[in-house]
Amino acid sequence: MTAPDVTILGGGIAGLATAIACAGQGRSVEVIEQASALTEVGAGLQIAPNGLRVLQALGVSVPGIDSKAVQVIDGPTGRHLIRMPLGSGFRLVHRADLIASLADRSGDVGLRLGTRVASVSDDARMLALNDGTRIPVNMLIGADGARGASRGFVAPDHKARFTGQVAWRAIVPVRDWPAEAQIHVGPGRHMVLYPLRDATMLNIVAVEERTQWVADGWSHRDDPQALRDAFAGYAAPVRALLDRVETVHIWGLMDHGMTPEWTRGACTLIGDAAHPTLPFLAQGANLALEDAWSISRHLDAPGAFVAARRPRVARALAAAAGNARNYHLTGLRRLGAHGALRLLDRIAPGLMTRKYDWLYDYDVTATQTP
Ligand SMILES: Cc1cc2nc3c(=O)[nH]c(=O)nc-3n(C[C@H](O)[C@H](O)[C@H](O)COP(=O)(O)OP(=O)(O)OC[C@H]3O[C@@H](n4cnc5c(N)ncnc54)[C@H](O)[C@@H]3O)c2cc1C
Repeated sequence: MTAPDVTILGGGIAGLATAIACAGQGRSVEVIEQASALTEVGAGLQIAPNGLRVLQALGVSVPGIDSKAVQVIDGPTGRHLIRMPLGSGFRLVHRADLIASLADRSGDVGLRLGTRVASVSDDARMLALNDGTRIPVNMLIGADGARGASRGFVAPDHKARFTGQVAWRAIVPVRDWPAEAQIHVGPGRHMVLYPLRDATMLNIVAVEERTQWVADGWSHRDDPQALRDAFAGYAAPVRALLDRVETVHIWGLMDHGMTPEWTRGACTLIGDAAHPTLPFLAQGANLALEDAWSISRHLDAPGAFVAARRPRVARALAAAAGNARNYHLTGLRRLGAHGALRLLDRIAPGLMTRKYDWLYDYDVTATQTP
């Protein structure tokens, strides 16, 4: 069996975008994905300008809602704190729609669906599948996420830490929701809301601090009443939304940290396999898209890919961790921070998003083209 130039393990956002980018460089590519169809778990995804540029450069259409602003609200009182206007290029996307668009653009890519990789050989030149088949590899790109085989192969001793936070995700039907995200902050918990598709679906991600560990992974169902109880101290409009939740999933937020090494033998990690992110800056998929473009330009020099990417990714991960703390402030610090936000709202509401110019203005398609 002849190996393609590039074998990509994982057909998520990182893997499919990388496949399209590598095929565009004239390489033969095969994607190996355990699911029998290209699908995504979960619903909402905020695509930011740094990720959107990659999708546009790859010719992938990005159906969704153009997000105009992020509004921060004090959860317990329902009081408006700040509405931060966004520039162009922020899009609220249904994950399944993005995966479908990526799949549409993958015409030159070999897709091996329903195929689970069990292990990677020491030099990463051979993959063993669950059914015992062995597949030779020239170059392996590990895009199989935080709990995938390639991360375990490159960094077998790396351990994740429970952050003391759990998250729920749910969808409720809505009408006429504005084209913006809302963050309802409060002591020990917060909730992010934004519309999807034709603004008839509201995506809910709610986070609560807890000492009791809950398994990570995206597919554990919870009782909707547990979510309602956790936010019983929030203002009436949020409680009314939660009353309409019928199905909810819960998972424990794990801090995996950045994977210490990104390469071993012929294998290079990208996306969540290289740097699982906590969902406090909405950048995991955006960074994965940047990785996809970058690795496709560094196929013959993965070390240069790693050197180019790690400092930026580390900065984004640190910014996400900082948000987790700021959303859950208590006591005097909460009062002080909320006063500052209300003042900013009056005099310079755009200042808060400008502190992320380094993140959103970055154009990997311009900076790393050979
Ligand atoms: C609640 C929540 C909200 C988020 N919101 C945002 C957001 O708004 N914006 C944003 O940018 N990011 C967001 N993220 C992060 C984002 O979802 C991830 O960073 C992104 O999906 C990572 O993509 P990936 O392709 O690297 O990995 P994954 O999506 O994990 O894909 C890995 C793929 O590999 C396959 N696979 C795994 N193991 C094997 C195997 N052994 N053999 C074969 N196939 C295998 C899996 O089936 C899967 O298809 C959010 C995350 C969460 C939890």
